[in-house]
Amino acid sequence: MPHTSQIAVIKGDGIGVDVTEATIAVAAAAAEVVGGFSLSYREVQAGAGYFAATGRDIEPDGEETAGTADAILLGAIGLPAIRHADGTEISPHLRLRERFQLYAGVRPARAYPNAPQRLADPDAAAIDLVILRESTEGLFYSAAVHNRSEVIGDSEVRDTLRITRPTTEKLHRFGFRLAEKRKARGRPGRLTCVDKANVFRSMAFFRRIFDEIRPEFPNVDADHNYVDAQALDLIRQPWAFDVLVMENMFGDILSDLAGALVGGMGMAACAEIGDAHGLFQPAHGSAPDIMGQDKANPLAAVLSGALMLDYLADKTGAGAMADAAQLIEESVYRGFAERRLRPMEFGGDMGTTAMTRELIALVGERETRRAASA
Ligand code: ATP
Repeated sequence: MPHTSQIAVIKGDGIGVDVTEATIAVAAAAAEVVGGFSLSYREVQAGAGYFAATGRDIEPDGEETAGTADAILLGAIGLPAIRHADGTEISPHLRLRERFQLYAGVRPARAYPNAPQRLADPDAAAIDLVILRESTEGLFYSAAVHNRSEVIGDSEVRDTLRITRPTTEKLHRFGFRLAEKRKARGRPGRLTCVDKANVFRSMAFFRRIFDEIRPEFPNVDADHNYVDAQALDLIRQPWAFDVLVMENMFGDILSDLAGALVGGMGMAACAEIGDAHGLFQPAHGSAPDIMGQDKANPLAAVLSGALMLDYLADKTGAGAMADAAQLIEESVYRGFAERRLRPMEFGGDMGTTAMTRELIALVGERETRRAASA
């Protein structure tokens, strides 16, 4: 019996709808080629458009539906013109992150041939790293859903950087396992703890826990870098890094920097993973400036879909899903190498529909290529 995974899908707003539909189509093509599993989707209505129509940011029981699914696939949420009465944007996905304690934010940055390369050094073609951003505490703890900033009249505001042992232990183990997994796929298998342990006690604690866990993973090269030096190194020699683990705010900043090195928002995939749940969404927003024009680059969403398949493979033991994830990643790489993927985002001639169609063709060619090389 082929394994079926249940996916809760929130297409959301703006280009979120188009890129999610592209992701579902590409994942289906990969499932067909690889075989042995299928994906079943249950759509959950949520977002700014839904809020404008109903006064709710997610459908009744939508969070519960997301919670019972094997994974959550999300497009993008929010439209600047539609806000709550207090001026804040519609953001039910932040509640999902909190409710399901999605502490591990996985943000890969990989250079693709013929895609924008921002650094002149030819070694930049070898950039292939992952920023692992803790996503439930750190310097974001007092913001967003917790709303715990300490406001002292009109003269001072204090935000708290919170590092807890349970979350940090889980985060570092996640980082080491990710490095191990990448090593099995030919990457160096290295994990760098990025912190500011020379100044903050919270950061020294973060590093101490990293060092405590390190002996559990002797196959992974582990080292440390201060965050300021890391910012320098991400420009000077980003190709020298593999997986970088850090607190929430550092990850927020450095993941954008890493994303910019290899293209733009349309390539920035993201996974948010907790102990029992995983949410997969492109790092970009709903891009109201290009919505409804078939201009969005669907690859960030499609590559997030590949991260989802990889996650489901681990969760369910269905190895075919990991094969499908790799097939999608390889197809994107080959599509760029052969100049068959030319997103408008990078000055090319292909909109969302054309990109999706070509990627499905690339995925479908695996069998032909295998037969030809046999
Ligand atoms: P949010 O705060 O909701 O994350 P944002 O304000 O950072 O959103 P985005 O919606 O991510 O903004 O868009 C930022 C810019 O990047 C816009 O000019 C948008 O058109 C562009 N952009 C974002 N995603 C894509 C994409 N998939 N393809 C092409 N361009 C994109």
